[in-house]
Amino acid sequence: MLIRGESINFDIQKMKLLIKNATIYEKNKPLLTDILVEEGVISKIEQNINLKANKIKVDKIIDATGLTALPGMIDLHVHCREPGATHKEDFLTASHAAVAGGITTFFDMPNNSPTTSTIAALEEKRLLAKKAVVNYGFNFGLVKITENIVSNDVTADKKQNNKSDRKSKNDPKKSNTSKDKRSADKQATKQSKLKIDEQYNLEEAKESQKFKCVRAVKVYLGQTTGNLMIDDLKVLEHLFLTTKIVMLHIEDDKLEEVLELFSNYCKKNAASKTALYICHVNSKKMVELIKRYKKQKHLEDKLFCEVTPHHLFLNNEDAKMLGRLAYVKPLILTKDDQKALWRALEDGTIDVIATDHAPHTLEEKNNPDITKVPAGMPGLETALPLLLNAVHEGQLAIGDVIRLYSTSPAKIFGLKKKGRLKEGNDADIVLAQQKLRKRIINDNLLTKCKWNAFSNRELFGVPVYTLVNGNLVYEYDKFTDKKTLHDIKGKEVE
Ligand SMILES: [Zn+2]
Repeated sequence: MLIRGESINFDIQKMKLLIKNATIYEKNKPLLTDILVEEGVISKIEQNINLKANKIKVDKIIDATGLTALPGMIDLHVHCREPGATHKEDFLTASHAAVAGGITTFFDMPNNSPTTSTIAALEEKRLLAKKAVVNYGFNFGLVKITENIVSNDVTADKKQNNKSDRKSKNDPKKSNTSKDKRSADKQATKQSKLKIDEQYNLEEAKESQKFKCVRAVKVYLGQTTGNLMIDDLKVLEHLFLTTKIVMLHIEDDKLEEVLELFSNYCKKNAASKTALYICHVNSKKMVELIKRYKKQKHLEDKLFCEVTPHHLFLNNEDAKMLGRLAYVKPLILTKDDQKALWRALEDGTIDVIATDHAPHTLEEKNNPDITKVPAGMPGLETALPLLLNAVHEGQLAIGDVIRLYSTSPAKIFGLKKKGRLKEGNDADIVLAQQKLRKRIINDNLLTKCKWNAFSNRELFGVPVYTLVNGNLVYEYDKFTDKKTLHDIKGKEVE
């Protein structure tokens, strides 16, 4: 059962809230404590905060006995599908799914229609995202614009040539051959100039870096739809010069070449702070390559990679059972690859867990024409429960979950007051019941697409309360299975 849009009567931005008896983890050691939240910030973490003695009045007390307090999860890789495909998802429904999954900040990807590859498209998206109940930011898209530029230039040049043709007929002194040569030279110069820095929207990508809400430029070197596909690696060198973080969708055949390119760039530009972030690693080959390059001194704190829960918790045998629902890019591979991903989590090669939440309707996934089945699956609601279940099964420590899904994403993307439960940090908090087991049921999901590859699995670990900027946005009642959403908007990241 779900109640949407329930309102809160007091001034939400000034809400004072006390979380009593929560268990927090410091270096994997549990500690029972209270957390005081004032003006959207964690003002005090202390055992037995005495309200009377401190003359503090609060609007709400949450009894967190038996609950684990975690910093809100930060998902760097989410497709909210707005604008362009709001029948699959939009910023509101994606953010509802997020809070139900203990995620308090997410970053939206640019492969929309239109792509988020111009400042105008970014500004449009910033307005659309205002409905989100979590904090949000954006990854800007690199696109190829040559075709337009070349065709426009050719048209312009043709017009110019026609003009000069007419002129030269009237002016016998002007030689046609020298004019043709000049024009050809001009065109050649233009083309070679285009090759360097005008084939792509590099200027807009550079401009996007001035927006605090944009932390990375996403480059699609793998197969994808539309004009986001990039085939010339040279453009990366130009991007490295102007971008904080280059986020790459790449398949393993091109990875070594790109890592070599980045390594050379960093050698030559030691002062550069640009980082390379490899999205959704899926294979043993990929993590081994990344591990090798991470050992290079000049790539320290500059090379990062992410893994998705579906690559961690599914292999090609599961994918066979799931059929088209498990069709994602990059593909879900063998048990051997899956094991390598877990090893890479353990040895620190993988820095971040992110969902690559990519919802499509069931109808689209079940398209009888297999060539038309879109790649991608939703993941926001199940990522943290899957990870907490892995903690329950001893595959991960709770500290790893916090590091991989909150602290490291905050650090890599420069979100200063997020990623840790600490006095002075933003009160983005999730209270989870680790011992509560819950079955994933499609009908109960908040994502608009209403399906999940992990449906019918029972998982230990349920987000019960989610606070965003100190506001209680989501509550789950284990006795009635009721999910309550409070319509309190999130903020653009700062
Ligand atoms: Zn993606």
